Amino acid sequence: MAYVITDTCTKDELCVEACPVDCIHPKKDEPDFEAAPHLYVNPDDCIDCGACVPVCPTNSIYTLDDLPADLARFAVDNAAHYN
Ligand code: SF4
Ligand code: SF4
Repeated sequence: MAYVITDTCTKDELCVEACPVDCIHPKKDEPDFEAAPHLYVNPDDCIDCGACVPVCPTNSIYTLDDLPADLARFAVDNAAHYN
């Protein structure tokens, strides 16, 4: 299981600062930051700690289990960013 970021993300990077394993990208200093519609969790690196969820002001981060059906595409979308 990994956490998933959805399209209400405003790219303020509060989750990036909270994540202990640096698995949320792109970051401001990375070339694809401006073009990215939202940030993405790398499912291979996420340790499911949950630290990103309470710091997100837009409630854009879900566990895979809690991801609403109408947002299911974002699980694929997050993983695809790293493939
Ligand atoms: S904390 Fe929420 S709004 Fe901010 S970058 Fe992370 S997912 Fe996006
Ligand atoms: S659950 Fe933990 S490891 Fe996974 S993205 Fe959030 S802060 Fe990072």
